[in-house]
Amino acid sequence: TPAGTPAAASSLPRPPAKPAVFIPVNRSPEMQKERLKLPILSEEQVIMEAVAEHPIVIVCGETGSGKTTQVPQFLYEAGYSSDDSIIGVTEPRRVAAVAMSQRVAKEMNLSQRVVSYQIRYEGNVTEETRIKFMTDGVLLKEIQKDFLLLKYKVVIIDEAHERSVYTDILVGLLSRIVSLRAKKLLPLKLIIMSATLRVEDFTQNQRLFPEPPPVIKVESRQFPVTVHFNKRTPLEDYSGECFRKVCKIHRMLPAGGILVFLTGQAEVHALCRRLRRAFPHVGRRPPAQEGQEDSVEKTRKFKKSRARARKAQAATLPPVSLDNYSVLPAGGGDEDREAEMDEEEEALGSDLDLDLGDDGGDAGEQPDASHPLHVLPLYSLLAPERQAQVFQPPPKGTRLCVVATNVAETSLTIPGIKYVVDCGKVKKRHYDRVTGVSSFRITWVSQASADQRAGRAGRTEPGHCYRLYSSAVFSDFEPFPPAEITRRPVEDLVLQMKALSIDKVVNFPFPTPPSVEALLAAEELLIALGALQAPQRTERMKQLQRSRLSCPITALGRTMATFPVAPRFAKMLALSRQHGCLPYAITIVAAMTVRELFEELDRPAASDQELAVLRGKRARVAQMKRRWAGQGASLKLGDLMVLLGAVGACEYAGCSPQFCEANGLRYKAMLEIRRLRGQLTTTVNTVCPEAGLFVDPKMEPPSESQVTYLRQIVTAGLGDHLARRVQSEDLLDDKWRNAYKTPLLDDPVFIHPSSVLFKELPDFVVYQEIVETTKMYMKGVSAVEVSWVPVLLPAYCQFDQPLEEPPPAYCPEKGRVLCHRTSTFYRVGWPLPAVQV
Ligand code: ADP
Ligand code: MG
Repeated sequence: TPAGTPAAASSLPRPPAKPAVFIPVNRSPEMQKERLKLPILSEEQVIMEAVAEHPIVIVCGETGSGKTTQVPQFLYEAGYSSDDSIIGVTEPRRVAAVAMSQRVAKEMNLSQRVVSYQIRYEGNVTEETRIKFMTDGVLLKEIQKDFLLLKYKVVIIDEAHERSVYTDILVGLLSRIVSLRAKKLLPLKLIIMSATLRVEDFTQNQRLFPEPPPVIKVESRQFPVTVHFNKRTPLEDYSGECFRKVCKIHRMLPAGGILVFLTGQAEVHALCRRLRRAFPHVGRRPPAQEGQEDSVEKTRKFKKSRARARKAQAATLPPVSLDNYSVLPAGGGDEDREAEMDEEEEALGSDLDLDLGDDGGDAGEQPDASHPLHVLPLYSLLAPERQAQVFQPPPKGTRLCVVATNVAETSLTIPGIKYVVDCGKVKKRHYDRVTGVSSFRITWVSQASADQRAGRAGRTEPGHCYRLYSSAVFSDFEPFPPAEITRRPVEDLVLQMKALSIDKVVNFPFPTPPSVEALLAAEELLIALGALQAPQRTERMKQLQRSRLSCPITALGRTMATFPVAPRFAKMLALSRQHGCLPYAITIVAAMTVRELFEELDRPAASDQELAVLRGKRARVAQMKRRWAGQGASLKLGDLMVLLGAVGACEYAGCSPQFCEANGLRYKAMLEIRRLRGQLTTTVNTVCPEAGLFVDPKMEPPSESQVTYLRQIVTAGLGDHLARRVQSEDLLDDKWRNAYKTPLLDDPVFIHPSSVLFKELPDFVVYQEIVETTKMYMKGVSAVEVSWVPVLLPAYCQFDQPLEEPPPAYCPEKGRVLCHRTSTFYRVGWPLPAVQV
């Protein structure tokens, strides 16, 4: 073996830097030459000695120094993948896992059967795999199956500086796994790789690593980068400012690639289009023609899709019947959680095909064909082939210009960049602790990120970075980006950790621990959902709080933890084995997980033509929603019935982009729902083999009683999102008209106008989320019968009324529904739901 047992390591004589096993690699001479230029090559010996001597090693080095591509190769050559074991490498982003596995395979002249990747829904791992790139979520799931990770001899946590939640947890878990493996005399090596030098959270954390691991710094040949600040900070239009800056650089400055940082996919595409029109080159259509054709083409498409939509509408008239759903994809067993970052972009990604927005503004600008510019987009969900283009040299006589999101900051290094244009912003999900309201916000980056971005310009020669903000603004930036774990709710993590029998989550060695309040809120929710055992109420408050933070998991919780969805949704799935509700619950949960199934139609229109299109679509979507929601019981399931109906109808229509476009559905979201349905179905079958009948779930429309059960299941899952309509006698003033009261918010909340229950105003509802625009709006609303509340949601009730027959009432001070244990439920209302799992 390459190393002795870590416990004895220090007393043993130094092991040789290269173990006896040396696996030769047959690289091409060109590749070898290119490798030798990388700074990390001169550190190979130091790194490998440190790895041999210490169980945990930290490797730091500028982006592009060769950490990701080279360290796995060093380990391979040193025999760390002999005896059928695997070198595992985790990445926070899917795009990096795929790209890096391809690159390393190519450098080593090995097939992707040997150097492979695994991400949420796909992978090419085989029996022969020796180096496996994966997203951090994939490894976390593997730990649940095999806590000791016995098939790995080394695990590399890459991009640890990103501080993604799963990376943080992996570091904490692996610190323990490493010592367990040492005790078993099957040592596991952990290598943490990071781009910036800020590793104190890892090294100065006694609880995480009692003995600080050695840090190896890779010096890179970084050329000086001149940073130019804007005199003032543009307030709104940083995209326009980017455009102007790129034009200037391209017209006036010497050769060298340009890299632009923007915040999201839609912005990236808009700027790419604008730049391509401004600087066309051979092989591209001249811009005027492109523009014209665009609008003609779009009108034609619109007319055609309207005709198709009419046809499709006729086709959707009969209720969904036995064969209405196409076969689900095979799904595969890769039910892992995925890094958030990718999802965020996805949630925001506008459907390009539907994007009718014209670029406006530069209509008067003459295209300049004398300065060809090779413009390429780069963001995490770009197809791998298109993403690989940024590594190719640009066509002769053109200048490369890559317009990227944050992925280009550290995950991928683009060759030949001399100019960086940095808008200074980044898009991040923002959670409101109290309300649970989440939104995407564009915020300033940190100083460390801004410097990292600037550094991209000095890789091959001295470069320039243009910051579209002033130095005063820069000095107000946070020094470092905050760890993600401190900015989001943690109930899913707490559940996963409890499932790993880590009961005292407060004691877990997080690199940066989440706040105790966040942990408490998570435990409280999980207790209410029945996933954790409630502590004894008799204990004194303080003890109660302490014991709250160490509640063990329940059988229901274990089932819930196997589903790759948020705990509220997992509860719904766990409950829906009854009455044949599973396929419907799976569909509803999949559709809720993939946010924003419907296209954003409230956006401002750039032209009259677009306005007409949007209006037409809005009317059509409203009509379809009413149709999908149906009447009676089905309408009471509300927006969730709409999701069920929309997915059903779309699958019936072959899940075509045309159907989606015609009905205002996001095609990409629909594909994601389909994949998630397949994945959840597979998971259900694994958890509960008797449910085998769901392998190929063909759904008839739910019966009326099934719809009612679904409503109860949804109520049980979204219990903490219960809202009660403010009755006229409680009306304090006009702002409460048609309003709802939730336990946590003082302000009124309203049913969102896009909801099918907007006019129905049921007395009690549960909602998926609250979004704040002009008012607080509930989205994803479903009606609840009050009589269900004490039975399904006892945790949110107070049973302290006298035993006679008070009507269920609402206590605004406590923010809770006051119900009687012997409420009307047993006499009226629905038959007692069998909610045991
Ligand atoms: P680090 O992980 O330290 O940031 P990498 O190992 O990702 O560095 O990159 C090392 C070098 O390999 C960089 O110069 C980068 O440009 C190059 N590289 C990475 N992937 C590719 C690729 N697919 N094609 C060409 N060059 C690549
Ligand atoms: Mg890297």
